[in-house]
Amino acid sequence: MPFSDLHRDLEGRASLGLLRQRRMLQSPQSPHISVDGKSYLSFCSNDYLGLANHPQLIAALQQGAAQYGVGAGAAHLLSGHTQAHHELEIALADFVGKPAALLFSTGYMANLGAVQALVGKDDTVFADKLNHASLNDAMQLSRAKVQRYRHNDVAQLAQLLEKTNSGRKLVITDAVFSMDGDLASLPELLALCEQHDAWLLVDDAHGFGVLGEGGRGSLSHSGIASPRILYMATLGKAAGVSGAFVAAEQVVIDTLINHAHSYVYTTATPPALANAVLASLQLIEQGEGLRAHLLSLIAQLRSGLHKLPWKLMLSTTAIQPLLIGDNRKALHLSDALRERGIWVAAIRPPTVPQGTARLRITLSAAHGAADVKRLIEALHELAR
Ligand code: PMP
Repeated sequence: MPFSDLHRDLEGRASLGLLRQRRMLQSPQSPHISVDGKSYLSFCSNDYLGLANHPQLIAALQQGAAQYGVGAGAAHLLSGHTQAHHELEIALADFVGKPAALLFSTGYMANLGAVQALVGKDDTVFADKLNHASLNDAMQLSRAKVQRYRHNDVAQLAQLLEKTNSGRKLVITDAVFSMDGDLASLPELLALCEQHDAWLLVDDAHGFGVLGEGGRGSLSHSGIASPRILYMATLGKAAGVSGAFVAAEQVVIDTLINHAHSYVYTTATPPALANAVLASLQLIEQGEGLRAHLLSLIAQLRSGLHKLPWKLMLSTTAIQPLLIGDNRKALHLSDALRERGIWVAAIRPPTVPQGTARLRITLSAAHGAADVKRLIEALHELAR
Protein backbone atom coordinates (compact mmCIF):
# COMPACT_ATOMS: atom_id res chain seq x y z
CA MET A 1 0.00 0.00 0.00
CA PRO A 2 1.50 3.32 -1.00
CA PHE A 3 1.21 4.94 2.45
CA SER A 4 4.87 5.95 2.33
CA ASP A 5 3.86 8.72 -0.12
CA LEU A 6 1.39 10.05 2.40
CA HIS A 7 3.98 9.97 5.19
CA ARG A 8 6.48 11.80 2.98
CA ASP A 9 3.94 14.47 2.11
CA LEU A 10 3.05 15.09 5.76
CA GLU A 11 6.71 15.14 6.81
CA GLY A 12 7.43 17.61 4.02
CA ARG A 13 4.62 19.84 5.24
CA ALA A 14 5.88 19.63 8.83
CA SER A 15 9.42 20.60 7.78
CA LEU A 16 8.03 23.75 6.12
CA GLY A 17 5.96 24.70 9.16
CA LEU A 18 2.79 23.85 7.22
CA LEU A 19 1.40 20.83 9.06
CA ARG A 20 -2.14 21.40 10.27
CA GLN A 21 -3.31 20.01 13.57
CA ARG A 22 -6.48 20.24 15.60
CA ARG A 23 -6.91 21.19 19.21
CA MET A 24 -9.89 20.05 21.21
CA LEU A 25 -12.21 22.37 23.10
CA GLN A 26 -13.95 21.19 26.24
CA SER A 27 -16.13 24.29 26.47
CA PRO A 28 -18.63 26.19 24.32
CA GLN A 29 -17.37 28.77 21.86
CA SER A 30 -16.63 31.97 23.78
CA PRO A 31 -13.69 34.35 24.34
CA HIS A 32 -12.67 32.15 27.28
CA ILE A 33 -12.31 28.56 26.20
CA SER A 34 -10.98 25.41 27.74
CA VAL A 35 -8.51 23.39 25.68
CA ASP A 36 -6.81 20.25 27.00
CA GLY A 37 -7.67 21.21 30.54
CA LYS A 38 -6.21 24.73 30.28
CA SER A 39 -8.17 27.91 29.85
CA TYR A 40 -7.36 30.37 27.07
CA LEU A 41 -8.39 33.80 25.96
CA SER A 42 -9.34 33.13 22.35
CA PHE A 43 -9.14 35.45 19.35
CA CYS A 44 -9.82 32.92 16.65
CA SER A 45 -13.52 32.22 16.31
CA ASN A 46 -15.89 33.85 13.81
CA ASP A 47 -18.57 34.14 16.48
CA TYR A 48 -18.53 37.91 15.93
CA LEU A 49 -21.58 38.77 18.02
CA GLY A 50 -21.00 36.14 20.71
CA LEU A 51 -24.26 34.33 19.88
CA ALA A 52 -22.90 30.78 19.49
CA ASN A 53 -23.66 30.01 23.12
CA HIS A 54 -26.57 32.40 23.67
CA PRO A 55 -29.36 31.08 25.96
CA GLN A 56 -32.08 32.11 23.49
CA LEU A 57 -30.43 30.11 20.72
CA ILE A 58 -30.02 27.11 22.98
CA ALA A 59 -33.70 27.33 23.95
CA ALA A 60 -34.78 27.66 20.30
CA LEU A 61 -32.68 24.62 19.36
CA GLN A 62 -34.20 22.60 22.20
CA GLN A 63 -37.71 23.67 21.26
CA GLY A 64 -36.99 22.80 17.61
CA ALA A 65 -35.71 19.37 18.60
CA ALA A 66 -38.80 18.79 20.76
CA GLN A 67 -41.04 19.66 17.80
CA TYR A 68 -39.15 18.06 14.90
CA GLY A 69 -36.75 15.56 16.46
CA VAL A 70 -33.11 15.54 15.51
CA GLY A 71 -32.40 14.39 11.97
CA ALA A 72 -34.19 15.77 8.91
CA GLY A 73 -34.09 12.23 7.58
CA ALA A 74 -34.06 13.07 3.88
CA ALA A 75 -33.09 15.66 1.28
CA HIS A 76 -35.25 18.78 0.88
CA LEU A 77 -36.67 17.42 -2.38
CA LEU A 78 -37.78 14.21 -0.68
CA SER A 79 -39.36 14.50 2.77
CA GLY A 80 -36.67 16.60 4.53
CA HIS A 81 -38.09 20.09 3.96
CA THR A 82 -39.92 21.22 7.11
CA GLN A 83 -41.95 24.24 8.02
CA ALA A 84 -39.01 25.44 10.15
CA HIS A 85 -36.73 25.46 7.07
CA HIS A 86 -39.40 27.18 5.03
CA GLU A 87 -40.16 29.91 7.56
CA LEU A 88 -36.47 30.59 7.92
CA GLU A 89 -36.04 30.98 4.15
CA ILE A 90 -38.84 33.52 4.04
CA ALA A 91 -37.39 35.40 7.04
CA LEU A 92 -33.87 35.45 5.55
CA ALA A 93 -35.05 36.72 2.16
CA ASP A 94 -37.06 39.43 3.88
CA PHE A 95 -34.15 40.34 6.16
CA VAL A 96 -31.71 40.94 3.30
CA GLY A 97 -34.30 42.48 0.97
CA LYS A 98 -34.43 39.79 -1.71
CA PRO A 99 -37.51 38.04 -3.19
CA ALA A 100 -36.44 34.52 -2.16
CA ALA A 101 -33.81 32.50 -0.32
CA LEU A 102 -32.59 28.92 -0.19
CA LEU A 103 -30.95 27.23 2.79
CA PHE A 104 -27.82 25.11 2.39
CA SER A 105 -26.16 22.92 5.01
CA THR A 106 -22.89 24.89 4.91
CA GLY A 107 -21.43 27.94 3.21
CA TYR A 108 -19.01 25.72 1.38
CA MET A 109 -21.90 23.81 -0.14
CA ALA A 110 -23.86 26.99 -0.94
CA ASN A 111 -20.97 28.31 -3.02
CA LEU A 112 -20.37 24.99 -4.75
CA GLY A 113 -24.06 24.62 -5.54
CA ALA A 114 -24.75 28.17 -6.68
CA VAL A 115 -21.83 28.43 -9.08
CA GLN A 116 -22.24 24.90 -10.45
CA ALA A 117 -25.97 25.44 -11.06
CA LEU A 118 -25.63 28.80 -12.79
CA VAL A 119 -22.63 28.45 -15.11
CA GLY A 120 -21.11 25.71 -17.26
CA LYS A 121 -18.43 25.15 -19.85
CA ASP A 122 -19.64 27.84 -22.27
CA ASP A 123 -19.63 30.49 -19.55
CA THR A 124 -16.98 32.52 -17.72
CA VAL A 125 -16.42 33.11 -14.02
CA PHE A 126 -14.43 36.17 -12.94
CA ALA A 127 -12.91 35.83 -9.48
CA ASP A 128 -10.87 37.91 -7.07
CA LYS A 129 -7.54 36.17 -6.39
CA LEU A 130 -8.09 36.29 -2.62
CA ASN A 131 -11.55 34.70 -2.66
CA HIS A 132 -12.39 31.96 -0.18
CA ALA A 133 -11.39 28.39 -1.08
CA SER A 134 -15.05 27.38 -1.47
CA LEU A 135 -15.53 29.91 -4.29
CA ASN A 136 -12.31 28.72 -5.94
CA ASP A 137 -13.45 25.12 -5.74
CA ALA A 138 -16.92 26.08 -6.95
CA MET A 139 -15.62 27.55 -10.19
CA GLN A 140 -13.51 24.45 -10.87
CA LEU A 141 -16.51 22.23 -10.27
CA SER A 142 -18.67 24.29 -12.64
CA ARG A 143 -16.24 23.68 -15.58
CA ALA A 144 -16.72 27.31 -16.61
CA LYS A 145 -13.77 29.27 -18.00
CA VAL A 146 -12.00 31.05 -15.17
CA GLN A 147 -10.56 34.57 -15.18
CA ARG A 148 -8.95 35.63 -11.92
CA TYR A 149 -8.25 39.30 -11.27
CA ARG A 150 -5.78 40.83 -8.82
CA HIS A 151 -7.23 41.48 -5.39
CA ASN A 152 -9.82 44.27 -5.62
CA ASP A 153 -8.40 45.35 -9.02
CA VAL A 154 -11.60 46.58 -10.63
CA ALA A 155 -9.70 47.98 -13.64
CA GLN A 156 -8.30 44.55 -14.46
CA LEU A 157 -11.74 43.00 -14.06
CA ALA A 158 -13.11 45.59 -16.51
CA GLN A 159 -10.52 44.55 -19.10
CA LEU A 160 -11.31 40.86 -18.65
CA LEU A 161 -15.05 41.47 -18.96
CA GLU A 162 -14.45 43.59 -22.06
CA LYS A 163 -12.68 40.69 -23.79
CA THR A 164 -15.43 38.15 -23.07
CA ASN A 165 -18.21 38.11 -25.64
CA SER A 166 -20.02 34.83 -25.28
CA GLY A 167 -21.81 32.82 -22.63
CA ARG A 168 -22.99 33.83 -19.18
CA LYS A 169 -20.70 35.97 -17.07
CA LEU A 170 -20.51 35.55 -13.32
CA VAL A 171 -18.33 37.72 -11.08
CA ILE A 172 -17.69 36.14 -7.69
CA THR A 173 -16.21 37.81 -4.64
CA ASP A 174 -15.93 37.68 -0.87
CA ALA A 175 -17.62 40.81 0.52
CA VAL A 176 -15.30 40.81 3.55
CA PHE A 177 -12.14 38.89 2.66
CA SER A 178 -11.85 36.06 5.13
CA MET A 179 -8.10 36.16 5.76
CA ASP A 180 -7.56 39.89 5.19
CA GLY A 181 -10.62 41.53 6.70
CA ASP A 182 -10.81 44.17 3.97
CA LEU A 183 -13.91 44.87 1.87
CA ALA A 184 -14.64 44.28 -1.81
CA SER A 185 -15.56 47.39 -3.80
CA LEU A 186 -19.13 46.19 -4.22
CA PRO A 187 -20.62 49.35 -5.83
CA GLU A 188 -17.87 49.35 -8.48
CA LEU A 189 -18.24 45.62 -9.08
CA LEU A 190 -21.99 46.02 -9.50
CA ALA A 191 -21.52 48.91 -11.96
CA LEU A 192 -19.21 46.72 -14.06
CA CYS A 193 -21.67 43.84 -13.94
CA GLU A 194 -24.42 46.14 -15.15
CA GLN A 195 -22.24 47.43 -17.96
CA HIS A 196 -21.32 43.91 -19.10
CA ASP A 197 -24.57 42.13 -18.31
CA ALA A 198 -22.93 39.87 -15.71
CA TRP A 199 -24.21 38.41 -12.46
CA LEU A 200 -22.48 39.28 -9.19
CA LEU A 201 -22.23 36.55 -6.54
CA VAL A 202 -21.38 38.15 -3.20
CA ASP A 203 -20.15 35.85 -0.42
CA ASP A 204 -20.97 37.73 2.78
CA ALA A 205 -19.84 35.06 5.26
CA HIS A 206 -18.08 37.70 7.37
CA GLY A 207 -20.42 40.66 6.84
CA PHE A 208 -23.82 39.14 7.58
CA GLY A 209 -24.93 40.05 11.10
CA VAL A 210 -22.06 42.46 11.56
CA LEU A 211 -22.25 45.10 8.83
CA GLY A 212 -25.11 47.20 7.50
CA GLU A 213 -28.33 48.41 9.05
CA GLY A 214 -29.55 45.96 11.68
CA GLY A 215 -26.74 43.59 10.68
CA ARG A 216 -28.26 43.05 7.23
CA GLY A 217 -24.80 42.66 5.78
CA SER A 218 -22.52 44.08 3.14
CA LEU A 219 -25.16 45.03 0.56
CA SER A 220 -26.87 47.24 3.11
CA HIS A 221 -23.47 48.51 4.30
CA SER A 222 -22.51 49.63 0.80
CA GLY A 223 -26.02 50.83 -0.08
CA ILE A 224 -26.51 48.67 -3.16
CA ALA A 225 -29.31 46.45 -4.41
CA SER A 226 -29.90 44.80 -7.75
CA PRO A 227 -31.64 41.72 -9.13
CA ARG A 228 -28.32 40.73 -10.69
CA ILE A 229 -26.74 40.33 -7.25
CA LEU A 230 -26.83 36.79 -5.91
CA TYR A 231 -26.30 37.15 -2.18
CA MET A 232 -24.80 34.33 -0.14
CA ALA A 233 -24.19 34.38 3.61
CA THR A 234 -23.26 31.81 6.22
CA LEU A 235 -25.10 31.12 9.46
CA GLY A 236 -22.23 29.62 11.46
CA LYS A 237 -20.35 32.86 12.06
CA ALA A 238 -22.09 36.01 13.40
CA ALA A 239 -25.42 34.15 13.44
CA GLY A 240 -23.87 31.65 15.84
CA VAL A 241 -25.52 28.51 14.43
CA SER A 242 -24.61 26.60 11.25
CA GLY A 243 -25.50 26.53 7.57
CA ALA A 244 -25.85 29.16 4.88
CA PHE A 245 -28.28 30.63 2.39
CA VAL A 246 -28.41 32.14 -1.06
CA ALA A 247 -30.88 35.01 -1.57
CA ALA A 248 -31.84 36.10 -5.06
CA GLU A 249 -34.68 36.45 -7.58
CA GLN A 250 -37.24 33.63 -7.42
CA VAL A 251 -36.12 32.27 -10.79
CA VAL A 252 -32.55 31.94 -9.52
CA ILE A 253 -33.72 30.12 -6.39
CA ASP A 254 -35.90 27.79 -8.48
CA THR A 255 -32.87 27.10 -10.68
CA LEU A 256 -30.80 26.21 -7.62
CA ILE A 257 -33.55 23.91 -6.31
CA ASN A 258 -33.45 22.09 -9.62
CA HIS A 259 -29.75 22.14 -10.48
CA ALA A 260 -27.52 22.73 -7.44
CA HIS A 261 -26.11 19.28 -6.65
CA SER A 262 -25.03 20.25 -3.14
CA TYR A 263 -28.69 21.09 -2.48
CA VAL A 264 -30.43 18.26 -4.30
CA TYR A 265 -28.22 15.35 -3.29
CA THR A 266 -27.78 15.92 0.42
CA THR A 267 -29.80 15.45 3.59
CA ALA A 268 -31.50 18.60 4.80
CA THR A 269 -29.92 20.30 7.79
CA PRO A 270 -31.67 19.43 11.11
CA PRO A 271 -34.88 21.52 11.37
CA ALA A 272 -34.02 22.50 14.94
CA LEU A 273 -31.06 24.44 13.56
CA ALA A 274 -33.46 26.47 11.43
CA ASN A 275 -35.39 27.28 14.61
CA ALA A 276 -32.17 28.45 16.24
CA VAL A 277 -31.34 30.69 13.26
CA LEU A 278 -34.80 32.26 13.47
CA ALA A 279 -34.03 33.20 17.07
CA SER A 280 -30.62 34.44 16.03
CA LEU A 281 -32.10 36.75 13.37
CA GLN A 282 -34.00 38.60 16.07
CA LEU A 283 -30.87 38.98 18.19
CA ILE A 284 -28.94 40.20 15.16
CA GLU A 285 -31.58 42.78 14.32
CA GLN A 286 -31.61 44.06 17.90
CA GLY A 287 -27.81 43.84 18.10
CA GLU A 288 -26.85 47.51 17.59
CA GLY A 289 -25.23 47.54 21.03
CA LEU A 290 -23.19 44.44 20.20
CA ARG A 291 -22.03 45.91 16.90
CA ALA A 292 -21.10 49.24 18.54
CA HIS A 293 -19.10 47.39 21.19
CA LEU A 294 -17.34 45.34 18.50
CA LEU A 295 -16.38 48.55 16.68
CA SER A 296 -14.92 49.98 19.86
CA LEU A 297 -12.83 46.83 20.38
CA ILE A 298 -11.56 47.06 16.78
CA ALA A 299 -10.50 50.68 17.37
CA GLN A 300 -8.83 49.74 20.67
CA LEU A 301 -6.88 46.89 19.06
CA ARG A 302 -5.75 48.98 16.10
CA SER A 303 -4.53 51.86 18.21
CA GLY A 304 -2.80 49.44 20.59
CA LEU A 305 -0.95 47.49 17.90
CA HIS A 306 0.20 50.15 15.46
CA LYS A 307 3.70 50.39 16.90
CA LEU A 308 4.56 46.70 16.64
CA PRO A 309 7.35 45.49 14.32
CA TRP A 310 4.72 43.43 12.44
CA LYS A 311 2.22 45.13 10.19
CA LEU A 312 -1.40 45.16 11.22
CA MET A 313 -3.16 44.82 7.87
CA LEU A 314 -5.61 47.51 6.74
CA SER A 315 -9.00 46.36 7.94
CA THR A 316 -12.02 47.98 9.53
CA THR A 317 -13.74 44.69 10.35
CA ALA A 318 -13.55 42.15 13.16
CA ILE A 319 -10.85 40.29 11.19
CA GLN A 320 -7.57 41.99 12.11
CA PRO A 321 -4.61 40.11 10.63
CA LEU A 322 -1.09 40.74 11.84
CA LEU A 323 1.25 40.09 8.92
CA ILE A 324 4.33 38.06 9.91
CA GLY A 325 5.50 36.70 6.54
CA ASP A 326 7.51 33.61 7.41
CA ASN A 327 5.50 30.45 8.26
CA ARG A 328 7.68 29.35 11.15
CA LYS A 329 7.81 32.81 12.69
CA ALA A 330 4.03 33.01 12.54
CA LEU A 331 3.75 29.60 14.21
CA HIS A 332 6.34 30.56 16.78
CA LEU A 333 4.46 33.74 17.70
CA SER A 334 1.18 31.85 17.92
CA ASP A 335 2.88 29.26 20.21
CA ALA A 336 4.39 32.00 22.38
CA LEU A 337 0.98 33.61 22.82
CA ARG A 338 -0.51 30.24 23.71
CA GLU A 339 2.13 29.83 26.43
CA ARG A 340 0.74 33.07 27.82
CA GLY A 341 -2.78 31.68 27.75
CA ILE A 342 -3.86 33.51 24.57
CA TRP A 343 -4.99 31.71 21.47
CA VAL A 344 -4.60 33.31 18.04
CA ALA A 345 -4.33 31.07 14.97
CA ALA A 346 -1.36 31.29 12.60
CA ILE A 347 -2.66 31.22 9.03
CA ARG A 348 -0.23 29.88 6.46
CA PRO A 349 -0.17 28.98 2.76
CA PRO A 350 -2.05 27.72 0.85
CA THR A 351 -4.82 29.47 2.81
CA VAL A 352 -2.91 32.73 2.19
CA PRO A 353 -0.28 33.51 -0.51
CA GLN A 354 3.35 32.38 0.00
CA GLY A 355 5.33 34.71 2.25
CA THR A 356 2.24 36.23 3.89
CA ALA A 357 1.74 33.99 6.91
CA ARG A 358 -0.17 35.88 9.54
CA LEU A 359 -1.85 35.82 12.90
CA ARG A 360 -5.55 36.13 12.14
CA ILE A 361 -6.91 37.99 15.15
CA THR A 362 -10.70 37.95 15.24
CA LEU A 363 -12.69 40.03 17.67
CA SER A 364 -16.12 39.31 19.05
CA ALA A 365 -18.69 41.44 20.83
CA ALA A 366 -18.30 38.92 23.65
CA HIS A 367 -14.75 40.18 24.27
CA GLY A 368 -14.24 42.88 26.86
CA ALA A 369 -11.82 45.82 26.66
CA ALA A 370 -9.66 44.04 29.28
CA ASP A 371 -9.34 41.00 26.96
CA VAL A 372 -8.10 43.16 24.10
CA LYS A 373 -5.72 44.98 26.44
CA ARG A 374 -4.25 41.65 27.49
CA LEU A 375 -3.60 40.68 23.85
CA ILE A 376 -2.02 44.06 23.09
CA GLU A 377 0.30 43.79 26.10
CA ALA A 378 1.32 40.22 25.26
CA LEU A 379 2.19 41.14 21.68
CA HIS A 380 4.26 44.13 22.81
CA GLU A 381 6.08 41.93 25.28
CA LEU A 382 6.85 39.35 22.57
CA ALA A 383 8.05 42.08 20.19
CA ARG A 384 10.73 43.12 22.71
N1 PMP B 1 -17.11 31.73 2.43
C1 PMP B 1 -16.23 32.36 3.23
C2 PMP B 1 -15.75 33.71 2.81
C3 PMP B 1 -15.80 31.77 4.42
O1 PMP B 1 -14.91 32.38 5.19
C4 PMP B 1 -16.31 30.50 4.77
C5 PMP B 1 -15.94 29.81 6.08
N2 PMP B 1 -14.65 29.91 6.50
C6 PMP B 1 -17.20 29.86 3.90
C7 PMP B 1 -17.59 30.51 2.76
C8 PMP B 1 -17.73 28.50 4.20
O2 PMP B 1 -18.75 28.57 5.13
P1 PMP B 1 -19.12 27.31 6.05
O3 PMP B 1 -18.13 27.33 7.17
O4 PMP B 1 -20.51 27.52 6.46
O5 PMP B 1 -18.93 26.09 5.16
